[in-house]
Order: sequence, then C-alpha cells, then structure tokens
Amino acid sequence: MRENDDCREVHAKMRKAGWLCAKGMHTEGTMIVFLEGLLWTLRFLTGASIFSFINVVIYRLPEGESLVRGRSHCRSCGHVLSAGELIPCISYLLLRGRCSACGERIAARYFWIECAGGAAFCCCAAAFTYGTASLISVQGLTVFAYLAVLAAAAGIDRDTQIICDCFQWMILALGVCAVWLFPETGLLERGIGAVVISVPMLLLTLLIPGAFGGGDIKLAAVSGWFLGAKAVVVGTFFAFLLGGGYAIWMLAGKKLGRKDRFAFGPFLAAGYTAAVFAGERIADWYIGLL
Ligand SMILES: [Zn+2]
Repeated sequence: MRENDDCREVHAKMRKAGWLCAKGMHTEGTMIVFLEGLLWTLRFLTGASIFSFINVVIYRLPEGESLVRGRSHCRSCGHVLSAGELIPCISYLLLRGRCSACGERIAARYFWIECAGGAAFCCCAAAFTYGTASLISVQGLTVFAYLAVLAAAAGIDRDTQIICDCFQWMILALGVCAVWLFPETGLLERGIGAVVISVPMLLLTLLIPGAFGGGDIKLAAVSGWFLGAKAVVVGTFFAFLLGGGYAIWMLAGKKLGRKDRFAFGPFLAAGYTAAVFAGERIADWYIGLL
C-alpha cells in the first residue's frame, strides 16, 4: 500500500502515537480493519441510543408524560438511572436485565428495541452509503428516521391500539424530503404508492367496519408515498403474512377469540422495514417471473 498525499498527514500522526510502524507497512492493514470496526461500533451505538429514546417515547407519550423532562428511572422503585446504566444494549446485559436498586426485572423489550435500532442504523449505512469516515449518508439517515418513527408508532399501537397522527405527519415530512433525496422513485410512483394500499384498505373497512383502524390506513398512505408503489405493495404483503400467521397462532393457542382485535401497526411497520431495503428488488424479481 502506498501513501498518497491525503493520508500522509494521518499516517504521520499515527506513527507518532505508535499505531503505525516506521514504514507503515505491517500495521496499516490491521489499523484499517480496526478503524472500520470502530466506525461500525459507533454506528451501532448511535442507532441503539436513538432507539433508546424511542423506548422513552413508547412509554411516555401514551401516558402524557414529557419526553425531555424527567430522567430515566426504574418503573418499579423510581431509582434514577446513572450514566453507566444508560449505555444502550450493554447496560441491560451488565445488569442481567434487572434494576440495580430493587432487582425488579427490566422488560426485555427495551433491550431488543435498542438492538434493533443499532442494526437498523448499520443496515441504513450499508444500503444507502456513507462517505469516508462519516457515519451515514443523508439518504441513509432519512431512511433511519423513517424506521425510528415506524418503531415508535408500532410500539404505541401494540400497547394502546392507537397510531398517533403525529407519526403520520413525520412520515409525510420525510416523504417530502425523499422526493429530492431519492429521485429514482418518481412522483407518479409515489402518488400511486399513496393510494394503492390505503384505498382498498379504506373500502374494506367501509364494507366490514373495524377491519382496519384509521391509523393503519393513514400509515399505509404516507408510507406508500415514502416508499413508492412497488415497495409498499411488497411491504404490505409481508405485513399480511406476519399478521395472518400471528392471528392463526393466537387463535390456535386460544389466546385470542374470533371477535378479538389486535394491533396491526407492528406488522405494517415490520413489513415496511423489510420493504425499505428489499421491496423494489423483490417486486422486480416477481414481475420478471410473470
Ligand atoms: Zn428499581
């Protein structure tokens, strides 16, 4: 490997710090692997930290509590979490899933949502590129923001069966940004996307009252604009597969009666998350089979 002008200065600093041998030959490769690893760890922790806040949103928004005021505390004993107890993913493992003050179990959901956030950030960086030594591109960050809003909406829907309109507005705003950031998805495709799923869902709900919640229909509409027609169809298909499987499993286990309703938002969120990364490709593959 040869030094070019750009990295000569960096190499000089690294040699001074003892990270690089005099010739810069042997340790350089290791160093690059190390730095890459460090960047991916940073990406994961960034995503996990943001989803840690999503956990706060999921718990506090339905209760009408402030999202910014009031420090994170144990729901059982009120113990205010120290800085060491606030490291996403890691603190949960170190505490073995229990409050350090009262020993009450901390819901595993916190941990998994944080892990999902870390994974989502890394996937967005990998799929939508990142500049040299930067964490993520603007495109990747926009998609990550969409996934974060989906996660918050899904979590609250699961608990309360309500998808707050504020999330729809946020996705709509991201959809407006997407017009410029992802010009490969044209306005016509976005327009079709906004109606191709939401209108049939609306008609079905008019025929069979309670088939879908208003929140699900609106989520399908704004996500259709954000994702485009192909991806939203694939994402909704996944949502029905997952939701249908869940309903059958719950009915078989007698945990759900025939007339019971369950939140569909989490399944839509899961389907649209998959669609962000693979929706168009799956749609093109399927069209190719026809
Ligand atoms: Zn406690």
